[in-house]
Amino acid sequence: MTEQIAVIPGDGIGQEVVPATLDVLDALDLGFEFVDGDAGDAVLEERGEALPDETYELAAESDATLFGAAGETAADVILPLREAVGSFANVRPARAYPGVDAVKPETDLVFVRENTEGVYAGIESQLSDDVTTLTRLITDSASRRIAEYGFEYAEANGYEDVTVAHKANVMRTTDGQFLESCSAVAEEGNYEYDEALMDALAMHLIMHPEDYGVVICPNLAGDMLSDLAAGLVGGLGLLPSANVGPDNALFEPVHGSAPDIAGQGIANPSAMVLSAAMMLEHLDYADEAATLRSAVESVLEDGPKTPDLGGDASTEDVSDAIIDRL
Ligand code: ATP
Repeated sequence: MTEQIAVIPGDGIGQEVVPATLDVLDALDLGFEFVDGDAGDAVLEERGEALPDETYELAAESDATLFGAAGETAADVILPLREAVGSFANVRPARAYPGVDAVKPETDLVFVRENTEGVYAGIESQLSDDVTTLTRLITDSASRRIAEYGFEYAEANGYEDVTVAHKANVMRTTDGQFLESCSAVAEEGNYEYDEALMDALAMHLIMHPEDYGVVICPNLAGDMLSDLAAGLVGGLGLLPSANVGPDNALFEPVHGSAPDIAGQGIANPSAMVLSAAMMLEHLDYADEAATLRSAVESVLEDGPKTPDLGGDASTEDVSDAIIDRL
């Protein structure tokens, strides 16, 4: 059966790293059908809405989605798209690669971030000119679901250390619930794990990332800790991610639209190509995913490199080099 892949480049460097990634996927000759979808700032200007219904439907109906980046309209684009694919887990691996100048070359972390609730549930109010509020939503069901996903991911991918990040000493009810749900799942599945206060964890991740493997996080903590980990391994141009649901998923780089370098043809396509490798794995093309990953690793080690990694290569130079290695 031909897999249908929704392709939504979005804004800024999304328009550069997504086409580069499609060239790489074409070279693998998988016979996928790629269907383009529009979304983002330019689409809002042209059509009055950042995420047209047909793009939402395209993501919902496809076997998987590749998404580039959204700029100012990010919240109106990526949050509904994650909902369209029924995603509850945001998986963000942060690995240091040989040949890339990393602050901590021993880093090999995977953040498994709950991505339907927490402070990103969108429950905000302006009560008066002076007072604004935000409601933090944590449910037992979503917490159990992310814990199950995180523990199973660690087991399937050979990570021994699992850490649950929280701030239950302050957010006693919500993170108290998060911890209780994770503990219940661990007991049922006989999984071992540690708990860590998310602020102290931020410091420990910088000093000793080698002590950690899979980190299961509430929504905001996962967003921030994974960007922190990007700094450990050489920057945002290297971090892929998957937004996984029960039967569908969307794959995107952790970085945003990078307006400071957009349009110059110098964005590092590695994060996007590695996101595509995560997609191949999700679609059960494990061998092709491994081949693609090792081609990216080989280029990261020997070059050419884009300016964020200290080189002067273009996006296309890097994607061409990845294709050569394939
Ligand atoms: P947005 O508002 O869309 O999130 P942003 O600039 O706030 O955009 P990012 O897009 O994540 O956030 O970029 C943060 C920094 O990292 C920028 O300096 C950007 O140039 C750099 N960066 C991000 N992605 C890449 C990439 N693929 N290649 C090179 N540099 C990158």
